[in-house]
Amino acid sequence: MNNAIGCKYAKKCGGCQLQNMDYQRQLKFKQAKAVSTLGKFHKVNNIIGMKNPYNYRNKVQAAFGLTRGGKIVSGVYQSSSHRIVNVDNCMIEDKKADEIIVFIRSVLPEFKILPYNEDTKKGFLRHILVKRSFSTNQIMVVFVGASPIFPQKNNITKALLKEFPQITTVVFNINPHKTSMLLAEREQVLFGKGYIEDELCGMKFRISPKSFYQINPFQTKILYETAIEYADLNKTQTVIDAYCGTGTIGLVASQKAGEVIGVELNEDAVKDAKINAKINGVENASFYCGDAGEFMVELAKEKQKVDVVFMDPPRAGSSKAFLQSVVKLAPEKVVYISCNIETQKRDLLILCKSGYKVKKIQPVDMFPHTTHVETVVLMSRKENK
Ligand code: SAH
Repeated sequence: MNNAIGCKYAKKCGGCQLQNMDYQRQLKFKQAKAVSTLGKFHKVNNIIGMKNPYNYRNKVQAAFGLTRGGKIVSGVYQSSSHRIVNVDNCMIEDKKADEIIVFIRSVLPEFKILPYNEDTKKGFLRHILVKRSFSTNQIMVVFVGASPIFPQKNNITKALLKEFPQITTVVFNINPHKTSMLLAEREQVLFGKGYIEDELCGMKFRISPKSFYQINPFQTKILYETAIEYADLNKTQTVIDAYCGTGTIGLVASQKAGEVIGVELNEDAVKDAKINAKINGVENASFYCGDAGEFMVELAKEKQKVDVVFMDPPRAGSSKAFLQSVVKLAPEKVVYISCNIETQKRDLLILCKSGYKVKKIQPVDMFPHTTHVETVVLMSRKENK
């Protein structure tokens, strides 16, 4: 059976590069990609796909703009252009989030709010960001405006809450900068707590507007469980959670480890990680804000005992400084989670030249219908066979 999604926006959006391919074929395609990139390190386990690979995104963002005819549109930027594709519903995004965005688009004229125009610098609304927890059903809506003056902010918030009583928090992010970053520093909470909470792997996690959180909760559970199983932890061990985001991997691992040390560049994510430790009653984990590479160099200088390193860098991969410090700290195991197998291959080569050996490779399909491949790789020091 061909169950390709055949999306009506595909030509303009370009987000789901594989949307014309049957899901089983997509998985084969990704498996082949993982094997051709990482296969020379070790046998690659079969990719773990989703049972129902739709509407999995728990975070949805939409850009707002005006057409030449003056119609308000919201959605994604047309590939390699600044034109907005007007999206009503996307097959990989959370349905409720899409409904919220379409509702906001439809009521903007009533509140005399115009989308921001980057050329003329007129108008106000740049983006809407929605994050929803699939486990607690809490929903956060973030208005991203180009100026601190948000006309009718209380009235539009009221209208939004009336239509969607499930929304638990509404935030206003002020982004006057010429930037491709969605959110800027300043924000104001218009309703609720300013964050939502999600439950994952038996723990609670706080998610703020700016902190990174995995976008496919069904597959994240599998990803984390695989990583932690590979680490095979015990209570005597010291574990590093590098590029830790809100501390998710480290906190789940803390139940089985002696001590967890997390490091992350984004300040808000680190704050969330510390709070997440508290709300889960975790006392053996600490989190630091900084560049993971520099942090590891410091740990190596201090000759810190490290038994296991979890590393989950962004698409650009890790840094030489980081990898060299891993080699100095000489943990028994390195569990490398990656959303970009090309940079992962580059980094694995460095570790393989310095005493490590790849023991397991598990791809997990975190982003169905796109070409992205996520992998968990276990490495051990060569002497522990
Ligand atoms: N492990 C987390 C986050 C992974 S995403 C999770 O599963 O949710 C990668 C994270 O690396 C992001 O939170 C990003 O802010 C952070 N990051 C990017 N560059 C970094 C650097 N140089 N040092 C430390 N953290 C970095």
